[in-house]
Amino acid sequence: MESASSLPPPALEDPAYRVFIDSLDYLSPKEVDRIREAYVFSARAHANQKRLSGEPYITHPLAVAGAVVEWRMDAEAIVAALLHDTLEDTGVSKRELSDKFGREVADLVDGLSKLDKIEFASYQEAQAENFRKMLMAMARDLRVVLIKLADRQHNLATMSAVRPDKRRRIAAETLEIYAPIALRLGLNKLYRELQDASFRLIHPHRADVLAKAVRAARGNRRELLAKITDGIKGKLKAAGLEADVFGREKSLYSIFRKMKEKQLSFSQVLDIYGFRVVVKNVPACYLAMGALHALYKPVPGKFKDYIAIPKANGYQSLHTTLIGPYGTPVEVQIRTVEMHHVAQEGIAAHWLYKDTEQSGADLQIKTHKWLQSLLEMQSGDSSEFFENVKIDLFPDEVYVFTPKGKIMAMPRGATVVDFAYAVHTDVGHHCTAARVNHELAPLRSELRNGDLVEIITAPHASPNPAWLTYVKTGRARSKIRHFLRTMQNEESAALGERLLNQELLALGVVPAMVPPQAWDQLLKSNGNKTRQDVFTDIGLGKRLPSVAARRLLARDDGAAPTHGASALAIRGTEGMAIQLAKCCQPIPGDPIVGSIRKGHGLLIHSHDCPFIQRSRSSEPQKWMDVDWEPEAGALFDVRIKVEVKNSRGVLAQVAAAIAEAGSNIEHVGMDASPEQLFTALAFTIQVANRVHLAQVMRGLRHIPEVSHISRDRGGGE
Ligand code: MN
Repeated sequence: MESASSLPPPALEDPAYRVFIDSLDYLSPKEVDRIREAYVFSARAHANQKRLSGEPYITHPLAVAGAVVEWRMDAEAIVAALLHDTLEDTGVSKRELSDKFGREVADLVDGLSKLDKIEFASYQEAQAENFRKMLMAMARDLRVVLIKLADRQHNLATMSAVRPDKRRRIAAETLEIYAPIALRLGLNKLYRELQDASFRLIHPHRADVLAKAVRAARGNRRELLAKITDGIKGKLKAAGLEADVFGREKSLYSIFRKMKEKQLSFSQVLDIYGFRVVVKNVPACYLAMGALHALYKPVPGKFKDYIAIPKANGYQSLHTTLIGPYGTPVEVQIRTVEMHHVAQEGIAAHWLYKDTEQSGADLQIKTHKWLQSLLEMQSGDSSEFFENVKIDLFPDEVYVFTPKGKIMAMPRGATVVDFAYAVHTDVGHHCTAARVNHELAPLRSELRNGDLVEIITAPHASPNPAWLTYVKTGRARSKIRHFLRTMQNEESAALGERLLNQELLALGVVPAMVPPQAWDQLLKSNGNKTRQDVFTDIGLGKRLPSVAARRLLARDDGAAPTHGASALAIRGTEGMAIQLAKCCQPIPGDPIVGSIRKGHGLLIHSHDCPFIQRSRSSEPQKWMDVDWEPEAGALFDVRIKVEVKNSRGVLAQVAAAIAEAGSNIEHVGMDASPEQLFTALAFTIQVANRVHLAQVMRGLRHIPEVSHISRDRGGGE
């Protein structure tokens, strides 16, 4: 399509181009043709541009594409690398790219151009953080980031003609942003190269001196290194452990940084020998460590067990420092092959964006596969990965989208509830479920990168204490706690008022007739501010209602009997102040008693609950008569056991019978092996009362396969 004759002459004869084309042997001839076309197109578009060094501009995209090929990226990525500066620097439009090379390539190039447009006011952490977030959001396609890294690497390598101040700016930006990203992606070689190149640009003189010193030291230490390696290998072999042992080399920049940050001299930094030992399984890690501690003395306090307590990002290894020959410190990391692998993949997986579109899913699989092969190629050294760089970069956060496309950063492990509270307190208080990527998801669902989250609220919904077990953010936690505390106080006050009124009536006094002075007297003597406080105290069980009532009536004779008192009426749906005991799960119709728990209101048990009999006789003052006054429409959980003959479809029949009787199934448990003749099904169902439960059971008895039904009360049966 493009005529080669309109190209500047060097482009197609450039030996670098020949090498590049020859390296495409892993692609199909058709793909190679497209890449050729892209090269020609790019060379033409950049025909009038030169690099600052004076070279034709096309040498730059060609070098970037070359790096992309080294990573074995796909044809789209290579084409995009060749075209990556065309939107920015030439008259080419995205439309044109899309028509010629397809939508995918156009999107990649567009993404790269957007990255270029971001300017930095300063290199402060916050700024870098924002940039990383933007990057995350844009990096729906990981290839954009990788091409960008290759671009940056080539720019750093060809910076000699650039003004010193600009050079330093770009180098600083690389250290701050791009190098950590390379690290995060497991591109360790690139990571070190970016760091060292930036270091050389910022401190050319120091880099020279350091490089010379390292070369000299390396020669001197060769013998010692071999000695330690042999020592470690021999000891592990003698212990019967199969292990791979690697020495770890430090980069110039990491030496420089260690000297600066830890105030160490050059020889102090370089004289630390780093090793990695990779073994078969976890027990072998500890065995290997034991063996090495017997070989060389460990430095006290330097041992870290990241296997038992993994780092926040999931990193696992044993770290120890030994005192080697001539007192040389030897740092050793011990891990399994899997830990090595998982650590790397975990990071990679972090970058894979979920896409709802079909083509996106396809792309993701491709990206993932490619990334894996990349990681395999890199399997050598990913050491400094988690140690030297602050782990607050990516792994602790996930980025999710609101329905309007706003990006929210949430801590890793955050759930739908955390998200709801992050949006707004009211949304949190009233959330009932969510749609995650357009699919219904429960409140406890963990959020993943790229999720689109839409919260479903209901006006009468309210926070549940169970939420506290899975929320991750401090904000959600404190909002839920606050709500529950307030709620509990209100409920407790209502309960306390009823308890007090009941007591007053038993003493023959209509509550409304208690004179205000009597109240003032009581408040003063109790140290409560308001009547509400008195009620709350009673409701929470901090004060006995009988005592409060007698104080209020100034009857301190202690003789007034409370026998005439009618039982306290409860609905069972009051909330936290009145709760139904889990052990016996009373339902309306069951005879019940209430236990006053200090600080927790009233707990309702069924009269014959086996767990309360002892306490009722030994501490009668803690117990009070209560009675049902159920609300219409309220439902109560109850457990039943249904024994059935093992046969096909019997569970469905049982479930249908329960539904038929107007009850909901909350939970089903089953204990059976298929060989057994009978299966015991344990249901938690919802009923209005005892009569309703009886109906459900009657319905179940009609099923021929059902051999036995019973209500399950606290394992008492
Ligand atoms: Mn470029």
